[in-house]
Amino acid sequence: MGESRIYIVHCDGLCEPVNPGGIATYGWTVGRGGREIQTGCGLAAEGPNATNNVAEYTAVLQALAWLVPRLHPGDAVRLYTDSQLVVLQIQGVYRVRSRRLQPLYRQVQLWLTRARDRGASVTVAWVPREENQRADELSRIAWATIMARRRPELASRYTVRYDAGNQYFLVQGVQKDSHPGFRVRFSPLQCTCKHFRRSGRPCNHIQAVIRHQLDADPSLSEADVCRNLSKGMSLRP
Ligand SMILES: [Zn+2]
Repeated sequence: MGESRIYIVHCDGLCEPVNPGGIATYGWTVGRGGREIQTGCGLAAEGPNATNNVAEYTAVLQALAWLVPRLHPGDAVRLYTDSQLVVLQIQGVYRVRSRRLQPLYRQVQLWLTRARDRGASVTVAWVPREENQRADELSRIAWATIMARRRPELASRYTVRYDAGNQYFLVQGVQKDSHPGFRVRFSPLQCTCKHFRRSGRPCNHIQAVIRHQLDADPSLSEADVCRNLSKGMSLRP
């Protein structure tokens, strides 16, 4: 039915502030015909089972779980990740020895089998980090959202204003009235503070903006917030 389609999938994951043992989050995008048609992001694991590799695998798994049921005969999926380990394990070059990864690996294989059963082909390949920025950004926004949910004090520590003309959030500490504040954007993810520029880690300012979004609409899920923010669609605080 219809003509065959090519899907481009990008996956990424991270575990911060420590790997292993931090908060592991994932992000993925699916594109078709040069357009992004779906994104996903969220929590992969937390505590002793949280690692970068768990996060990377979860990104692949979640992307396939969304996409495979939508595939038709003749469709082709090109899935990209910047994790060499994940690529080589899925291709069967490396064995999966980690007990944390084995169940994730098995589920990925199950989705690949289902894709084949539907008459679609899936290739998995490595890309350098620079070509995986959007998925990386989504996993960082997911991480910041999980942190923001746990930090109600951010709402009283920072004021957040949205500058519709220039499309950034202005974040100021309430105790430092003289400081001009920092500018936060979500797509691409940016903050003008030193911490973010040095590390790329979602700083307090990014988390404060997300906290304002969550407080404005507590019914939003982490995935909703990720999706909205990463598209530049934001509730106005
Ligand atoms: Zn900042």
